Amino acid sequence: MASTTKTVELESNPLTSMDLQEIQETLFLKRKALSENSIQLMQKTEHSRSNHSDLVDKASAEEEFRMKLRTQTLEQNLIRDIDNALQNIKNGEFGYCELCGNEIGKKRLQAHPMATHCIECKTTSEMKQGYRTSGKLL
Ligand SMILES: [Zn+2]
Repeated sequence: MASTTKTVELESNPLTSMDLQEIQETLFLKRKALSENSIQLMQKTEHSRSNHSDLVDKASAEEEFRMKLRTQTLEQNLIRDIDNALQNIKNGEFGYCELCGNEIGKKRLQAHPMATHCIECKTTSEMKQGYRTSGKLL
């Protein structure tokens, strides 16, 4: 009676060490590009800030600065997510949903290497967020 062994479960664990290595490289490249971009953004921001003396120009420069700051915050969050993912790869904890603990899935991870939630939890949280946002607007 050895026929109860499920071969399906082998297929549900599709991340090989080769896949992990590829994902790791993608993450490293992304991280490098992001931190370079971040440095450039800061240098440009400093430059445009000191070049405006007029009040209107100053206002638009401030707005520009705020926009850049927002972009930079997003980028810093991304870098943190990348570091997180890299750490998880190192610990062998990569590829599992933070909420339900299920496997996130190879295809999703290859498209979004920093994904920390499976598609089901992601969809649920996005639905909740969407609800909250539209509630505010109304
Ligand atoms: Zn999940």
